[in-house]
Amino acid sequence: MSDRELVVLGTASQAPTRSRNHNGYLLLWDDEGLLFDPGEGTQRQMLFAGVTASRITRICITHFHGDHCLGLPGVLQRMSLDRVPHAVDACFPAQNHAVFTRLRRAALFHDVVNLKERPVAAGGTVLQAAKFRVEAQPLSHGVPAIGYRLVEADGRRMLPDELAEVGITGPDIGRLQREGRLVTGGRLVTVEQVSEPRRGQRFAFIMDTRLCDAAFALADGADMVVCESTFADTEAALAREYGHLTARQAGRIAAESGARLLVLTHFSQRYERGDEQQLAEQAATAFGGPVVLAHDLDRVSMPSRHPQPA
Ligand SMILES: [Zn+2]
Repeated sequence: MSDRELVVLGTASQAPTRSRNHNGYLLLWDDEGLLFDPGEGTQRQMLFAGVTASRITRICITHFHGDHCLGLPGVLQRMSLDRVPHAVDACFPAQNHAVFTRLRRAALFHDVVNLKERPVAAGGTVLQAAKFRVEAQPLSHGVPAIGYRLVEADGRRMLPDELAEVGITGPDIGRLQREGRLVTGGRLVTVEQVSEPRRGQRFAFIMDTRLCDAAFALADGADMVVCESTFADTEAALAREYGHLTARQAGRIAAESGARLLVLTHFSQRYERGDEQQLAEQAATAFGGPVVLAHDLDRVSMPSRHPQPA
C-alpha cells in the first residue's frame, strides 16, 4: 500500500558517517506523517527525500540522546517558516520535559507552530486518532526512553461477490457500512453477511534499549518493526553495557512477537557499506521473515494486509 510507507531519513547512531546521516524516520500513513527521532540534519534529509515539513502531523521522540533529537530545533523552525497550518502533537519522555523545552527554544525565531506537547510519563495510549492509536512503552536504556507502536483499529473488508449477490451497489454500499444493515428488495442485509473482518495494521518503533519485555510487547503482531541494531554479535557485551541491541536480538524480537517485516537501523559507525551485511545475516538467523537493512533515503512500504484476521 503505497500511501503507507516509512521514509528513512537517517540511519546512524552516535556519529554520522559519509553515507549515513543521524537517525530520522517519517512514517507516511494515509494523510498523516509521524516523524520519529529527528537527529541532526533531519531538515535537509527531508529535502533530499522529497517530503515537506507540512507532511508532519505528529512527532515522537524516544529519548534525548543527541542522535535522536538534535534535529528537532531545525524541523520546528522549518515548520514555522512554512506556516504549517495544522496542529502537531509531540510525544517525548516526561522525565526530560526540560530538555524538550530547551530544544524547542534553542534559537530565536517567530514560532507560529501549533505544537501540542504530550509528555509521556507511563506506558499506554498516548495519541488517539480517528483511525489509529499510538501506544508507548518504557524501554531499558541509560536514560528515560520509550518505544512506540501505531495500532490501526480493526475494520471489515467488503466482499464484491457477496454484494453483487444481494444486489447492493453504488452509494448503498457506503450506507450499509455506516449503518450496519440495509433493507433491499424487501430483504434485510447485514454488513456481516457481505464482508469479512479486516485486521488493522500495526507499526512498531523500537530504538535504544537492551532486550526487555516492552520491546516484545511493542512488536507484538506488527506488520513492520523498525528496530535499532547498533552492534553485531562480536560486540554483544558492549551492547549490553550501553543499553543497545545486537542485530540478532532485533531478529529475536521480531520472531518471538510474530512480526512480519523487520527494518534494521541505528548502526554503529564501525559498520560502513561492505561490512554491514553481517547485521542482516545475524538478524535472519533468528527471524525467518524479510529483513531490510535500512539506508538513508530508502522508502519501505508497509506490507500488504493480512488476508485473514489474527
Ligand atoms: Zn541513546
